[in-house]
Amino acid sequence: MTFESLGLHPSILAALTESGYTAPTAVQSQAIPAAIEGRDLLVSSQTGSGKTAAFMLPSLHKLASAEQSAAGKTPNQEMQASRARGERPRFKAAQPKMLVLTPTRELALQVTTNTDKYSTGIRRIKAVSILGGMPYPKQMQLLAKNPEILVATPGRLIDHMDSGKIDFSQLEILVLDEADRMLDMGFIDDIEKIVEATPEGRQTMLFSATLDGVVGNMARRITKNPLVIQV
Ligand code: AMP
Repeated sequence: MTFESLGLHPSILAALTESGYTAPTAVQSQAIPAAIEGRDLLVSSQTGSGKTAAFMLPSLHKLASAEQSAAGKTPNQEMQASRARGERPRFKAAQPKMLVLTPTRELALQVTTNTDKYSTGIRRIKAVSILGGMPYPKQMQLLAKNPEILVATPGRLIDHMDSGKIDFSQLEILVLDEADRMLDMGFIDDIEKIVEATPEGRQTMLFSATLDGVVGNMARRITKNPLVIQV
């Protein structure tokens, strides 16, 4: 199996070569084609299996393809145009296309770093981390750039949602990374609230060491006809 045969965008293939990735891992070979088709995924996999690229590569592929064909202005460009017309700047909530929820700051930063690496060749696709412990003014600056991708820990994300800084109406892809750990850490209510705020028609991918018990119940509630992958 090669990354080329999975049908990924040429800019992503170039970034993978640059990163020294020669072939997809088992979870990537199964997840990437299904995710590109738009399937929801429930994936049982461990850290080290290449799970980050398994959800991020197809997502970047889809966002890059949509960016190419998108007409009209981004909210950020609209805001700039409105300023140029001499209108008073109005605060606009960030409208991400993709959200990755992770249990810890460390994992969120790792996902964001990998995303930057995979997306270097794709203009206008930016990922930012929204983390507990990071100063609010800094996060407001990041959100004001209206990034396509947010990588967040649940608690801090809820704070920004409650204060109207994030609007999930345009969200296309939701990823729960290490979902079992998020539940162990007591994030269930936060996760439910975040999922509720996203569109019904989104694509959902859930990664977890186990798909049994509480995490399995939640997984089935928030996905539609998911492909189950066990590696
Ligand atoms: P993860 O399971 O997502 O934490 O990834 C584990 C490590 O494997 C990370 O350092 C990735 O950069 C690396 N990695 C992921 N996919 C590949 C691949 N197809 N080839 C080589 N390294 C990879």
